[in-house]
Order: sequence, then structure tokens, then C-alpha cells
Amino acid sequence: MKTDKLIRRVIIAGGGTAGWMTAAALAKLLGKNLDIKLVESEAIGTVGVGEATIPTLHLFHQLLGIDEREMMAFTNATFKLGIEFENWKDVGEDYIHSFGAAGKDCWACNFSHFWVKGKQQGIDYDIGDYTKEHLGARLGKYAVSPRSERTHAYHFDASLYAKYLRMLAEKNGAVRIEGKIDDVQLDHDNGFIKALKLESGELLEGDLFIDCTGFRGLLIDKALHTGFDDWGHWLPCDRAVAVQTGKGENPVPYTRSIARESGWQWRIPLQSRTGNGLVFCSHYMNEEQALQQLLDNIEGEPLNDPRVIPFRTGTRRQHWNKNCVAIGLSSGFIEPLESTSIHLIQRSIVRLMTLFPSDGIKQVDVDEFNQLIREETENVRDFVVLHYKLTDRRDSEFWRHCRNMDVPESLARRMQVFEESGRVYQNGTELFGESSWLQVLLGQGLMPQTYHPIVDMMSDDELSRFLGSIRSQVRGVVDGWPNHMEFINHYCKAR
Ligand code: FAD
Repeated sequence: MKTDKLIRRVIIAGGGTAGWMTAAALAKLLGKNLDIKLVESEAIGTVGVGEATIPTLHLFHQLLGIDEREMMAFTNATFKLGIEFENWKDVGEDYIHSFGAAGKDCWACNFSHFWVKGKQQGIDYDIGDYTKEHLGARLGKYAVSPRSERTHAYHFDASLYAKYLRMLAEKNGAVRIEGKIDDVQLDHDNGFIKALKLESGELLEGDLFIDCTGFRGLLIDKALHTGFDDWGHWLPCDRAVAVQTGKGENPVPYTRSIARESGWQWRIPLQSRTGNGLVFCSHYMNEEQALQQLLDNIEGEPLNDPRVIPFRTGTRRQHWNKNCVAIGLSSGFIEPLESTSIHLIQRSIVRLMTLFPSDGIKQVDVDEFNQLIREETENVRDFVVLHYKLTDRRDSEFWRHCRNMDVPESLARRMQVFEESGRVYQNGTELFGESSWLQVLLGQGLMPQTYHPIVDMMSDDELSRFLGSIRSQVRGVVDGWPNHMEFINHYCKAR
């Protein structure tokens, strides 16, 4: 497939986080030569969840020239240094997947090999004691300076974030249209999308269409019938129930993920309130039970009516099909355990801009886009499946199912290599680096049988001093950080 039609008119269907992130980026970075319109329907609204992010968002913000303090103040954001997984390995056990890397790597191997030998010798500290972000999360302390590395992410109010991006997009020339899409009109010659027809009768004609209509997938699915690969056999949760409560006394700088009988509960602290939700598998628990379990485990009174959100886990067979690119929930979904959806939105936007088809759509670019997104999504899928598979829980049918289920071959191989050698095999484009894999593999209880031979080049005393010096450096840095919320109050006010 190749078209010579110049791409000038871009229509974005949907104005949730995906739609406005796309509009803001295209308008700011390519907008001079484009006519960008975004259509959304207030009556339909947005999915209304999606409050936890990962540190890669900094790259997106840098591209858009977003000021961190302004964005945090506008969206009631807090800093996020990682995720605490409670009861995942087994009831009563917990660990943190923090965004920092533990210790110091050497040329031959990751720091964890030194830590494993230390453990074998009775130096019984958690791997997190060697990581600033981990210790900061545990102690509720954090601070950034203009020069500090941006290893943190945010918890924010997703609807305010979309509003913030809308201001940026409109400032750079994107035009918002209120209305409900009633029909997607196709060109009978090549099956490309010609126009969106709104309920009002208005026709929105375009050259390139971005489907950001959420789970509905109005363009990519309903109109173009792009297939979907269902991953529900690896990630069985298929519903969430969400509710907001007031702000906690001292919001913690991490997301809490608490494994429950047939799923898990999130608790996300913002400056203004707390987001709560229960992700569950409807095969083992019905909606009434899930709602009750959530309400039994929140702090304070609900601020809104709880909402059930059904979802299907998997991915579109093509994220770019003809002249339609699906971004956000319309492109597929992996449950929010590692807060990866907004990251995948950002990756799709950056890739689309890199391969932007100004002079016409070429199949080679479409294939490249689809392959890169596919690989990245599969890597994220494997990482999330790992949390379920590597559990010792046997206390409910759901957890017994997860322990015993088959996993993707790519994941099974990684787990085996790690157990046998302590190594984490990576391909260069993965979102989650070695340190993330290590923290979850170890946190879920998989201890490598051995470590790299270079570790034995250190005497036992040297190893003990090496590990001790890293622990005290980490402690020294974190002791110098203020309380996380005190820092935010000062940081956001001092704009
Ligand atoms: P939506 O928010 O659903 O927006 C769809 C848009 O399309 C809306 O503007 C709607 O009005 C419009 N629309 C639909 N149909 C029509 C029509 N006919 N006419 C006109 N307009 C229409 N992600 C994270 O990164 N971190 C998280 O912590 C996280 N938690 C999540 C928890 C749950 C339970 C779920 C389900 C998702 C979570 N996500 C999370 C994912 C995140 O919510 C989404 O990726 C993000 O909100 C983007 O959604 P969206 O813009 O694709 O879709």
C-alpha cells in the first residue's frame, strides 16, 4: 500500500488522556503544517481513571516544554517513586518496585549479583536498602532539584491532566469540536476513512484519523474491523470498580497495590484526594462482591458513586491500519498493575511523529510502526504476567489458577535464565529495564541459584565493605530529603 495523498488534515476522535496528549504533541511539534481537529462528546465522557504514571513521562513533558511545578499544581499531583506490592508473593509479605536502580553495576554484571552473594553470606539486607527511591518511598521522603535525575513519576488527576493538555493544544492551534460521532464514512475504492459524521450532521473530513475513542474503538474496530488478540488467558482480570475518597493524612510517594482474593486493589494518593479501585476477575467474583470488598477496604467516605469498568485485555492486530492510527484504550489494554497505559500512549505518539506520513502513507512505515508497538506491548504484557505467575498464594481459586497457568514462552525463558544464572535478558527497546525485572523477580520470591564469577574476585571483607558503603550512601542521600508532602507544598507554591 502506498498513497501519494499529502497529509495535512488530522482528525483526532476522542478527548480523553490519549486524545489530548496526541493533540498537544502534534500541535506543538508538527502543527505549523497541519490542520488539527479533535472531536469529543461531553455526554459520553472519558474512562475517568488513569492516575498513576511512570518516569518516562518526563520525556514527553520535555518535548512539550511542560513546566513540572505548573503541571503538578494544576493536576493536584504527588510524586511517585514506585509501587508497593502487598500480599502478592504471599499474604502478609510485601515489596516495592521502585524506579531507581540498586547499588552500582559493574561491566560484567548487575549489582544484584553482589547482593546475592552477600545474602548467601548472611548480609541480610533488602535489595531496596541499596536504592534511594526505594528507601525514600518507605520513609515518605523526597525532593528534586533542577539538576537531579528525573527518576520519579506522578500520581495526578487524569481529568485535570487532559484539561491541562487541552490548553496547550488549543494554544498551538488545535481546534476542539463538541459532538457525538454517529458514523465513520469510508472511501469505497481503498477502504480508507474519508470523514466522521457527527450527530448534528456535520462532516469532518480528514487525511489521517487518530482513534482515541477509548474501549469503543469506533474507527479502528467498528469501522475498519482490525482484529484483536485477546490475552485474557494470561491476564484474567476483566473488570475494575473505582471510587474516590478524601485525601489521606500524609500521602505516600508510591502507589499501593494490595492483592485481594480475586484481584488487587489500588490506592493512589493525590494532593486533593485518594483514588481507589479493585481490579478483579469476574469468573471468580461478581460485581456486588467486588464493590463490597472495595468499600470495606477504603479509608474515609466515598466522594462519588463507585463505577464498574469492564475491560478486555489484549491488543489490536494493527495499531495503524490504512489512514487510521489507534492510540490509547482503542489500541488495546493491559491492566493497570504497572501503570503502563499512559506510557504506551506517549510511545505511539512519538513513533507516529517520527514516521509522520506528510507525503503520503507508505506500507513500510505502517509495518514499522505496528511491529515496534507490538514488541513493546508484548514486553509490558510479560512483565505484568510475571507478578501473577510468581506467587506462592494458594488461598483462593483465583491465585491457584494464576500459579498454575501457562505463560508466554518469552516470559518462561526469562524466568528460567534468571533462576539459573541471576541474569536478566533484555532487548534494547524494552520499557522495563533490568532493575525493574530484578525487583519484581526477587520481590515475588525467585532467588537465583548462583551469581556471576566476577563477584568472587572480591574477598568476603571487601564485599561486606562494598555493600555497607552503598547502604550508607543511599541512607545519607535519603536522610537529606524532606517529607514528601512538605516538599510538594513548597515546590508547587514556589512557581
Ligand atoms: P477515554 O478516556 O475513554 O476517552 C475516550 C474519548 O472518546 C472521550 O473523550 C469520549 O468522549 C470520546 N468518544 C467516545 N465515543 C465517542 C463518540 N461516539 N463521539 C465523540 N466522542 C466519543 N493508565 C495509566 O497509565 N495509569 C493508571 O494508573 C491507569 N489506571 C487505569 C485503571 C483502570 C481501571 C483502567 C480501565 C484504565 C487505567 N489506565 C491507566 C488507562 C488509562 O485510563 C487510559 O489509558 C487513559 O485514560 C486514556 O484513555 P483514552 O483517552 O484512550 O480513552
